[in-house]
Amino acid sequence: MGEFKRILVTGGSGLVGKALQIVVQDEKRQDEDWIFVGSKDANLCDLDATRQLFDKHKPTHVIHLAAMVGGLFHNMSHNLDFLRSNLAMNSNVLQVSHEKGVKKVVSCLSTCIFPDKTTYPIDETMIHNGPPHPSNFGYSYAKRMIDVMNQAYHEQHGCLFTSVVPCNVFGPHDNYNLESSHVIPGLIRRLHDVMEAGGSTFTVLGTGKPLRQFIYSLDLARLFLWVLREYDEVAPIILSVDETAEVSIRQLTEELQKAFDFKGEIVFDTTKADGQYKKTASNAKLRKYLPDFKFTPFAVAVKESVDWYKTNSKTARN
Ligand code: NAP
Ligand code: GDP
Repeated sequence: MGEFKRILVTGGSGLVGKALQIVVQDEKRQDEDWIFVGSKDANLCDLDATRQLFDKHKPTHVIHLAAMVGGLFHNMSHNLDFLRSNLAMNSNVLQVSHEKGVKKVVSCLSTCIFPDKTTYPIDETMIHNGPPHPSNFGYSYAKRMIDVMNQAYHEQHGCLFTSVVPCNVFGPHDNYNLESSHVIPGLIRRLHDVMEAGGSTFTVLGTGKPLRQFIYSLDLARLFLWVLREYDEVAPIILSVDETAEVSIRQLTEELQKAFDFKGEIVFDTTKADGQYKKTASNAKLRKYLPDFKFTPFAVAVKESVDWYKTNSKTARN
């Protein structure tokens, strides 16, 4: 137990926010009061609305998850929107956190914002080393500016504003909209629809060759709690599964096929984009702090996510 914390979680209604709600509920502590908010509580692109939200809840700590988020295809067609919305939300949340004397802010970057042309594995020191992949430059530059602002707030005002860098996240309560989803919820939705319709062909976009590290949202939520309570550096920390856990989109597809027990044919639509071939990230910094942290095995996490969607497909976000 420590000093009392009132923790405001922006983006509390999203994939990561819902996972955090579950983990916080499981590990309830007397010295923490948690408030989860979504876009209905305040539009964080609006500075006055952000101030009103902070005046209402008076947080001592903030986990800033809110963002315009989407998969490869949504990013490719909306780079300007990703840039503008995320720059505005991040700037407002950090400014108001400073104005209201918030003691610590943990914001969220992503491994997809790293330089496109780079050496692997990528680590926390390489974020600003070159242009991001052209498919998501809007989201990437907006996210990179969080790290720049964190450093500037620390230098000028001594603030403890930090950030984490998750790899691709998946789990219950994801976004299953076929236009804007990431690959796992997109494929879960598509395969579920095929099976409901009695179809025999499951179409996956791109060649299936790109490589990704996927973290289960509940594992990420447990790591977020540790960062909030224990991690006191301004510099970012990568929250990713190990490099050996990287899988191809084809391997992911096979795992989904098993989880659904789908007996039909898988087709790769190679007319669709692959995006970044890989963005392999090192979690050595995390492992130094938490050498024994156990990630949920990928097959188990995929099965749980598929089962959740099967039960909740009528009400899931799509
Ligand atoms: P998500 O499921 O799409 O949730 C986004 C959240 O942001 C929702 O709670 C949404 O509220 C809120 N939001 C969006 N626009 C807002 C606005 N203008 N004002 C206030 N709130 C707004 O996203 P997620 O996957 O949980 O992502 C959480 C964080 O992790 C983000 O910062 C993202 O960049 C980062 N991240 C995600 C991944 C991934 O693979 N998903 C990977 C790396 C990093 P409503 O739902 O109420 O509209
Ligand atoms: P990224 O990791 O930031 O590129 O984001 P995504 O989660 O959108 O993953 C994109 C990778 O999955 C690319 O190689 C896509 O070609 C591939 N992919 C295959 N099917 C789908 C799909 O239905 N939706 C999305 N978003 N990507 C898909």
